Amino acid sequence: MTEQIILGRRTESPSSVKTFKQCPRKYYYNYIEELPTRPSIHLVRGKMVHSVLENFYDQNTEDLSWETMEPQLLMTAQQLLIKEWKNNNIELARLRLTEEETVQYFEETLHMIVNWTIQKSHELQKYKDSGTVQEVFKTFTPRREQEYKSEKHGVRGFIDMIEETPQGVKIMDYKTNKSQDIEDHRLQLAIYALLYKEKHGKLPDKTGIYFLRGTPEHLEVNEELVQYAIRNLKEIHSKTKSNNYTDYPKQLSKLCNYCDYNEMCFKGKSVEQYKKDFKEKFDIVMKEEI
Ligand code: SF4
Repeated sequence: MTEQIILGRRTESPSSVKTFKQCPRKYYYNYIEELPTRPSIHLVRGKMVHSVLENFYDQNTEDLSWETMEPQLLMTAQQLLIKEWKNNNIELARLRLTEEETVQYFEETLHMIVNWTIQKSHELQKYKDSGTVQEVFKTFTPRREQEYKSEKHGVRGFIDMIEETPQGVKIMDYKTNKSQDIEDHRLQLAIYALLYKEKHGKLPDKTGIYFLRGTPEHLEVNEELVQYAIRNLKEIHSKTKSNNYTDYPKQLSKLCNYCDYNEMCFKGKSVEQYKKDFKEKFDIVMKEEI
């Protein structure tokens, strides 16, 4: 179960809040009925990229030198991606991609990883005069995939990276999206700032997104941002007390064209039928794999 009820209300996450804002009916199907959604390359890839960037910092840095650091880091990142790609071969096979699509997605993902690694390498190079490469690498190694939870505000989330350096505290998330507008992620980042403040008693200095197809973008962290998160969480808690789907109105938008629940919203398919169809489709794939 992805959501929990605490003291009569659900514990939300940045994704459940985002889903509710997009469409309350989608929230109902996703988090109350807990209907599964189709596997997608974007989900599988997101998971792989997160693992690569998480494990990147566990590498042995003994052989790193300032002169050869960039190619060395690139080699490690590439090896980590290849390993993750192999580890996820069952999930990838389920997507039934053509060979051409598989190659295209792999190359695209590699490009993102390379882009991020080069930027990281340039960032580390800036501190070349402050210590050995090993020391600088260690100073800039963030805490990764940290779970934060607030009973008070009924929310929890996993923060991809918490960078605590002499320059301050920075909370960062990765995105593989084509769109690189940080405003699309303001609420998620505001929730992270709120969670961080509640746990550590102070605000982080910065928060932002590593857009893996581009460059990092940041938001200013202040009390206003935290209040924005609190307001939105209060609103969602007040609107998600019911388990009745009529309390979750449809919000029509272009996203309906790609929504897994489209046939229930527009073709009268029942929840039971959705579950049955999904199971049959999933079982067929499982049998073929065996
Ligand atoms: S198809 Fe549209 S209205 Fe229905 S759940 Fe999905 S986004 Fe909401």
